[in-house]
Amino acid sequence: MAEKRDYYEVLGVSKDSDKKDIKKAYRKLAMKYHPDVSEDPESADKFKEISEAYAILSDEEKRSTYDQYGHAGMGGFSQEDIYNNINFEDIFKGFSGSGGNSGGTGGFENIFDLFGFGGGGRNGPRQGDDLAYHLDITLEEAAHGLEKDIEVSHEKICSHCQGSKAEPGTNPRTCPTCGGSGQVRHISNTPLGQFATIRPCNNCHGEGKIIETPCNKCRGKGIVREKNTIHIKIPPGVEDGNRIRVHGEGNAGERGGPPGDLYIMIGVKEHALFKRDGADLIYHMPISFVQASLGDTVEVPTLDSEVDLKIPAGTQSGTSFRMRGHGMPHMRWGGKGNLYVKVKVITPKNLNQRQKELLREFANVSGDEIYTEGKGFFGKVKDVISHS
Ligand SMILES: [Zn+2]
Ligand SMILES: [Zn+2]
Repeated sequence: MAEKRDYYEVLGVSKDSDKKDIKKAYRKLAMKYHPDVSEDPESADKFKEISEAYAILSDEEKRSTYDQYGHAGMGGFSQEDIYNNINFEDIFKGFSGSGGNSGGTGGFENIFDLFGFGGGGRNGPRQGDDLAYHLDITLEEAAHGLEKDIEVSHEKICSHCQGSKAEPGTNPRTCPTCGGSGQVRHISNTPLGQFATIRPCNNCHGEGKIIETPCNKCRGKGIVREKNTIHIKIPPGVEDGNRIRVHGEGNAGERGGPPGDLYIMIGVKEHALFKRDGADLIYHMPISFVQASLGDTVEVPTLDSEVDLKIPAGTQSGTSFRMRGHGMPHMRWGGKGNLYVKVKVITPKNLNQRQKELLREFANVSGDEIYTEGKGFFGKVKDVISHS
């Protein structure tokens, strides 16, 4: 398929246009490209293109997803999802003129045929909804991964009637109105010509059968809401905002459709000591000016234990020391990030007499000289071998 065009461009509207403008633009184009009136051999494709653009831009949630991520963000929507909020009847209301024709939708309901989910599609199997579960974990848990049992409330196929909606042992009758197909065909006359429209059967609500004895447990719904314990595995290295998919644990599908998925939405709590930057960790460590001047070996906390870090004599405030492999695991390519220890040299306050004397003596010996080093020294990251 050719590159997908921008939805705003397709409808010829600006990015900040409101719902009304978008509807107006769509109506105008729909009149032009409806395959039953247009002579353009590509009208069906064009009609489909504008209808999809309208479906997305007229829905606030879908529009904001599209504005943020473009076409790439629409992957999670099925054809049916895309159109589920559009009321074509409403859009084309009045389109058939003043006749008050009850077939006011014109042939527009059969655009569903164009989109490939017409006919049985509307009454056919439907995948269940996806569900989200929020899980907050600590940085340590994110580092090591975790397994956990969670309680999820979701819709499941009724175990009593196996989703048939009828009490076991009873026999649903075939719907006499639609003969069991769940659909009826309407012929409507509009200024655009005569259209066949397929609609769900009113008598059986599209089910194709009449249930006289509904299932006791689900009261004829075929699905029940229940709480289940689900064992989940969170891989090491997971990041704040990641989604972990648990296949098939969303809501039950309809009419034999597959269940949706459950998404574990991960939130990683702030850590008291470490800031995270992807797979790297940053630790800010205060040291005394004496340690910085003379050098020292200090204990640095890591997520697992403590490791020794050698501070060389003459270390400047702001210097970062890289401790390889003491960061977070990489979720995709294995291995671990680094821990960066950024030192801050603390100037002492509230000195006692003796301390002041010593510092004055130090000043006397040193003169007024300020110890500087080449500019390139500052901010440089020093590699260290940790002695863990
Ligand atoms: Zn049941
Ligand atoms: Zn029927």
